[in-house]
Amino acid sequence: MQTHCDQCFTAYHLPEKNTRPVGCPYCGFVNDGKAKANGHGPDQSKTMLNFLAGEMKGEVSEVKRLINGKLPSLSPGHEILVEILEGDKKGQKFAVRKPKISVGRKGSDIELSDAEVSRRHCVVAVFADTVILRDLGSSNGTMVNEFLVKEVVLKNRDRIQVGGTVISISLRNIAEVH
Ligand SMILES: [Zn+2]
Repeated sequence: MQTHCDQCFTAYHLPEKNTRPVGCPYCGFVNDGKAKANGHGPDQSKTMLNFLAGEMKGEVSEVKRLINGKLPSLSPGHEILVEILEGDKKGQKFAVRKPKISVGRKGSDIELSDAEVSRRHCVVAVFADTVILRDLGSSNGTMVNEFLVKEVVLKNRDRIQVGGTVISISLRNIAEVH
């Protein structure tokens, strides 16, 4: 059975009869009914950062309401523009035509070799005209416009900071740029 990670939206195969919980191959999150109901996965309460994130429940439920069990999808004719504003890759700019971008160390869509960046740091997912960012339980957290966030709706040109790197992500209509 094909399933999608509730946390980072990665698609993966789930055996029909699984006796042990099978986690997401990217972030390790295990989908279960409880996680869907309250928006918190296993181990999320064990670190101080995630405890603080739990205080921002209003935001979590807003995102849940907006995406409402949908899978990421880019509207036809749209792409995501990624710009690296600060850090080792400063000045890099590229367009991505898929609805989900992972940020982390090796193996992520945006690979950052920064000791303060977790292997799987955060994910940006597009749901038509809604763009959300979700921290994947990173050690040092994800900041958007100087605020520590767990899950947030992004606006074009928001400044996303992971470790020493600042990234801006914008959704744009291809017809308007080419
Ligand atoms: Zn995942």
